[in-house]
Amino acid sequence: MKVNKSDLISKLNEVGISKNSTIIVHSSLSSFGYVEGGAPIVVDSLKELVGSEGNILMPTFTYSKGVFNQGSSSLVGKITEVFRKDKDVIRSKHPTHSVAVFGKDQKRLVRNHFYKEPFGIGSPWWNVWKMEGSIVLIGVDNTKNSFIHFVERLFELPYKRTVNVMYKDSFGKIAKRTINGYPGDSLGFNKLNNLFEEQGIVKSTKIGNSNVLVMNTVDVVECLSKILVNDLYYLLCDRADCYRCENAKNMIRESGYNEYA
Ligand SMILES: [Zn+2]
Repeated sequence: MKVNKSDLISKLNEVGISKNSTIIVHSSLSSFGYVEGGAPIVVDSLKELVGSEGNILMPTFTYSKGVFNQGSSSLVGKITEVFRKDKDVIRSKHPTHSVAVFGKDQKRLVRNHFYKEPFGIGSPWWNVWKMEGSIVLIGVDNTKNSFIHFVERLFELPYKRTVNVMYKDSFGKIAKRTINGYPGDSLGFNKLNNLFEEQGIVKSTKIGNSNVLVMNTVDVVECLSKILVNDLYYLLCDRADCYRCENAKNMIRESGYNEYA
């Protein structure tokens, strides 16, 4: 299957991406099959669609591996890496969960991310939610939807991890930092694929071989708020060998949180 720029623009427009849109994009380049022009054409198409009044945010996560600097490669896909290097894009300074942003509000969207919990209040995800932006999943499902980690923090689910990381500060010196609110496993987010569909909050299309899903952040928060108020375990996975979700379940039990629900 062969995909070109006009396919990308017309199909993405069909699911609501247009002038003034503010979107968080998670993507897999290989999901399309073959794209004429590769990742740069996907990036150009998105920029053209949202225009000078819109915003595009992509994760450029580096996790806790190595020493972070502003030029560290994104570990979450080819499209994010090309996007990060685009001349019109700026990147937040977060040492584990940085984001790259294009658009009118880019400075405001990344502001102070360094000082915040990666997905906490005041993080770029919080900013996009406040702007009633949308989430776009290109060839990936909700297990890659980073916005759900923000929802975990928004509802103060009583499981959080802490990691120590190193980064290069603005003087080029290596510094240490403790990151609170480091996210856990996201495989349990797979149950959201059906949930969001059933709730009617997803628009979908197919571009080449890639399934593209679009949902509004406000709908996602509203949908999950109804579930999480009764079930703090909902977003955790049930794999027997998942020590992260096992730890998270223990933290919920120890918190006594449920007793007051
Ligand atoms: Zn798990």
